[in-house]
Amino acid sequence: MNTVETTLGPLGADRLGRVNAHEHLIIDGGYTVVKEPDFKLDSVEKAVEEVGYWKAAGGGLIVDTMPFGCGRNVDKLVAISEATGVPILVPSGFQKSSYYLPDHWQHRFDEETIAGLLIAELTEGADRNNYDTPVVDRSAVRAGFVKVAGDYQVVKPTTLKLIRAAGRAHRATGCPILVHTEMGTAGDELLDLLEEAGVPPSRVMLSHLDRNPDVFVHARLAARGALLQYDTPGRIKYQPESVLVRLMRDVIDAGFGANLLLGGDTARRSYWKAYGGGPGLAYILDTFDGRLREEGFTQDELNAIWTENPARWLGLTASTETAPSEERAASA
Ligand SMILES: [Zn+2]
Repeated sequence: MNTVETTLGPLGADRLGRVNAHEHLIIDGGYTVVKEPDFKLDSVEKAVEEVGYWKAAGGGLIVDTMPFGCGRNVDKLVAISEATGVPILVPSGFQKSSYYLPDHWQHRFDEETIAGLLIAELTEGADRNNYDTPVVDRSAVRAGFVKVAGDYQVVKPTTLKLIRAAGRAHRATGCPILVHTEMGTAGDELLDLLEEAGVPPSRVMLSHLDRNPDVFVHARLAARGALLQYDTPGRIKYQPESVLVRLMRDVIDAGFGANLLLGGDTARRSYWKAYGGGPGLAYILDTFDGRLREEGFTQDELNAIWTENPARWLGLTASTETAPSEERAASA
């Protein structure tokens, strides 16, 4: 595959720029916002300001990770891109179970039906109504990946069904898969189930793994080919950045620099400068990148994290040659 579908149309690896691999630009309603009003990110104007800081810091593609039923708004994502020139990857799929009411349709429909819904989002266009209404109204923009979510230490029965549906979507379209891990747990089990469903680990991004900053666990997941996504920079409530920097160094020194990705995951008003909060969506690039350089990370190591590894997850032929040959084969 040579291009990926974004809010600004299909883009090749050379057009991605530095990738924010896990972000939330719009959370426009849904049970998520009812549960926690700080998650309400419904303003295009505020998002344009915040993404402006990201662009000014040299940022490129943003992977938005709020799928069905959790306040996704495809038209607002497109509006942000049109105002800023920053491309956004539109998610399809599902957030973790606690963000849905227990009667959400994901629990009722079977694997094949859900796979059909995912495939249509990936090949025809993302539904503006998020499959929450009887009317499907497809955007001209297609979804770029499928998200599934594990729970703390376990994979619940509905999640297993959604993973199998995501596997069908991957087999039909070659789409990448993004996995929410709860506190970085159940990574091996999630990879096992995805592999059984036909998704090679090299096309799976495991999100939030740095909530469990354990290099032994991460090296084992990376040895299987999985991409490890970290997002605690600047969010000190989770852990000091020194722990994260040490973890990244250890993972790279263990030989897995081609598996690391960074995201902001700034899914709260209180994280955004545009709402008077911090550290801001651009922090991972305008501040944390500088710290990594000061702590001895090389340009090649940073290029891998920001551009080459995301391109490989997306199934694109990276513009710089670093991918191990077996991963290239797996993503072909
Ligand atoms: Zn997130």
